[in-house]
Amino acid sequence: MSPSPSPRLSRSYLQTVCAHSGCDVNASHSRDVVAPIHLATTYERSAPNPLQHPPTSMDPTIAPRGTDGGVCGYPGGYCYSRLANPTRNALERVLTDLDDGLASQAYASGMAAASAILSALAPGDHVIFGVDLYAGVKGVRGMLCDARNVKWDAANAASKEDIVRKIQPSTKLVWVESVGNPMCSVADVRGIRDAIQTLGMASPPLIVVDATWASQFVSRPLLHGADIVLHSLTKYIAGHSDCLGGALIRTRTSTPALDKMWTMACNACTIAGSALDPFTCYMVMRGIRSLWCRIKVQCANAMEVATWLSKHPRVSCVRYPGLSNDPGHVTLLQNGVSDSQDDDPDALFGGMLSFEVEGGAEAALRCLEACKLCVRATSLGGTETLLEHRRSVEAFAGHSDTPEGLVRMSVGLESVQDIINDLDQALNSI
Ligand SMILES: *Cc1c(COP(=O)(O)O)cnc(C)c1O
Repeated sequence: MSPSPSPRLSRSYLQTVCAHSGCDVNASHSRDVVAPIHLATTYERSAPNPLQHPPTSMDPTIAPRGTDGGVCGYPGGYCYSRLANPTRNALERVLTDLDDGLASQAYASGMAAASAILSALAPGDHVIFGVDLYAGVKGVRGMLCDARNVKWDAANAASKEDIVRKIQPSTKLVWVESVGNPMCSVADVRGIRDAIQTLGMASPPLIVVDATWASQFVSRPLLHGADIVLHSLTKYIAGHSDCLGGALIRTRTSTPALDKMWTMACNACTIAGSALDPFTCYMVMRGIRSLWCRIKVQCANAMEVATWLSKHPRVSCVRYPGLSNDPGHVTLLQNGVSDSQDDDPDALFGGMLSFEVEGGAEAALRCLEACKLCVRATSLGGTETLLEHRRSVEAFAGHSDTPEGLVRMSVGLESVQDIINDLDQALNSI
């Protein structure tokens, strides 16, 4: 698809890609304007050739994706739906385009995508994780790192110095969130890439960026030097709090370490079997059609809510990278849609923010209880505003450094005045 004359990577290019998500009339005989859902699990094979045997030398852990130990002879290009499916491929093409990558792989959830990468590490490998990290990733880190003797350190993703200080010869991955959960810290992906390059390592660690909070319109990890970007499709991309999915997108630049990691991560989908089902692929493509419009309104609403909250007497701290005094403000501009845009008037900073209520956990919980419009629920990126007291949610994992009074907010598409009025009456009722 080459949808528009707009320059690639500009917001207008992405806007047009979104509007045509899954729309490839040449891909179907009936010239469907909307991608059909291909439910077949299996596809007809051409007449068998008895002399065709799978090559015995192929290492199953790094066999090319889409193959199954050398199965071939499928004239339609598809063999079995777990390996590849036309609806999933249509979604993967859109995701590749939106992040300007080389290829993408869609998984049954964001966590399946995260697991695909971490399970490719070997005992003795070392990983650096950003401190601000999705609780689910911390959980799977216990399963796939701690339990398998994969070592890790935590570092401040906003500080390339802190990251580089913790790199060891065995460091295989640096894993950061472009906008971090729940403190809204902003990773300096570009700075981390440059700092790693100056180390001159023969096999430098790969940079994996979880861009779920930001979406493709707010941070551009591959453009700024990441090797792999991860999205939970469940959040902004599908956008309606009604389906689970995840994706990995890889950069065009090729290194032996990246190619090996990519193949193994894809095999976790196609061979180990965590592929996203065709109906959900369709739902996600449908969501992407309005992604630009949703993100634009959510970012504008979040900016207004953050500005309003920062003046409220019951609020001690607001974290939102759109505020010009936020520590991540300039970094996010530098890691955004185009290369140099420190004064970009159209820059977007996302729909996620967090704020601290004066009076700690008890006051924060009372505030949430008093909300009538904003919904108390986990997750993010839907059309409805969601609020969550993170400390109570993270309690299940034992230790939490999240401030007691912190409320995480996914700003929705409601009238911003309605959102503010609801917060105002709730804060004033404490
Ligand atoms: C939700 C989320 C995930 C996990 O995605 P699921 O689709 O819920 O498995 C990973 N990273 C971040 C930042 C998330 O918000």
